[in-house]
Parts: sequence; C-alpha cells; structure tokens
Amino acid sequence: MKEQPIKVIAFDADDTLWSNEPFFQEIEKQYTNLLQAYGTSEDISAALFQTEMNNLKHLGYGAKAFTISMVETALLISGQKISGTDIQHIIDLGKSLLKMPIELLPGVQETLKTLKERGQYKLVVATKGDLLDQENKLERSGLSHYFDHIEVMSDKTEKEYIRMLNILQISPSELAMVGNSLKSDIQPVLSLGGYGVHIPFEVMWKHEVVDTFTHAHLKQVKRFEELLTLFE
Ligand SMILES: [Mg+2]
Repeated sequence: MKEQPIKVIAFDADDTLWSNEPFFQEIEKQYTNLLQAYGTSEDISAALFQTEMNNLKHLGYGAKAFTISMVETALLISGQKISGTDIQHIIDLGKSLLKMPIELLPGVQETLKTLKERGQYKLVVATKGDLLDQENKLERSGLSHYFDHIEVMSDKTEKEYIRMLNILQISPSELAMVGNSLKSDIQPVLSLGGYGVHIPFEVMWKHEVVDTFTHAHLKQVKRFEELLTLFE
C-alpha cells in the first residue's frame, strides 16, 4: 500500500474494534426462548429477520431498530395475543443492548496507540447505527482519544462514504477503510477507488454476508496488529 498516498485510516467499530454481534445473538436467543409457545427458535429468528429487512429502509441499523422489530415480530407470530408483560420483557432485552459491555478485540488498543504515536495517518471511526448508541459505545470503549473524527452513518453506502470523504476533504484513493464486513466496510470504498483492509470476525449478521472476492486495493488480515506492518 506504500505506492498510494493514504492519508486517512477509517475503522469500522462493531466487530472490528469491539465485539458486538455476539451480544445481539445472545439477546435473540433469549427472545426466541421467551416466545417458544409460538414457534421454534429457527422460525422465530427467520420471522424476525424478515421484519428487520422490511424495516431497514425506515429504521436503519442498531439496537432501537432491532427492538422495534422484535416487538413487531412478537405481535405478528402471536396473532396479537402476546401479553403486555412479555412485550415489556422484549423491550428490556432490546434496551440491554444499549448497555452492553465493550470488549475490545485483541490488539486493538495497542495498535491504535502505536498508529496514533506514529502520527502518519489521520485515524477515523466510520460506523453505522444509532448516533447516540454508537457515540456512547465509543465513549465506553476508552478509544475516543485515538480518533480525529467520528462518523456515524445511517448506512454504509457509496453516497455516505462520499459524504465522509467530503468532510475529511480527501479523495477516495487517500482513504483506507478497515472493517469486518466486506459488504459495508469494503465494497463501497473499493468502488469509489479507495483501499480496504478486511479483518473477518468470528460471527457475522446474515444481512452482511457476501461472497469473498479479491481486488487490487483489498488486503485481508487475520489479526488487528497486522495493520502496523501494513501501514508502515
Ligand atoms: Mg462491523
């Protein structure tokens, strides 16, 4: 990557800097248990996913959208019979995601510290979801001070990345985006002419899964620390 004058390294947050999807999966497990009178966990999960996909355009990503989709799905599969107590339980499950502990992924803290000390690149967070929730998670992570800019996007589309590039006043080829999702973090940036570094995470939300591919501007690493040699 040395031949290109990369100025900014942007990092995805959820499942790149810290663990996120496992918490959503745990909540979904408790949710399907709560609703077991109405179907198997597979059926309820499938119905929930369908509701989430239907709501995506209007509600976007994150814990709030997930909570509304859980309530809506519960009403649907119970034929509106679900009790107020159970609805309360579902809302509490959703709200617990807003307080999930931030568990940094291996090597994140040390690598960001070194990159920051080297001072060679501007470091940015580019995340999607609820503004307040993502800001709170970043605050709880203790990582905020490493970043020059935080961008919370409603979705990670090319249009949203262009908006971020404009704010940062850089061209696409001056951006390297690091993230766990080829679909959200990598593909749009490559399409614009930027660089991508893919760091796969152990679990992936079904909506984010795409086939792997190769590209001249794409690197894949297994461990976060490998960024230190990649961006030397
Ligand atoms: Mg992610």
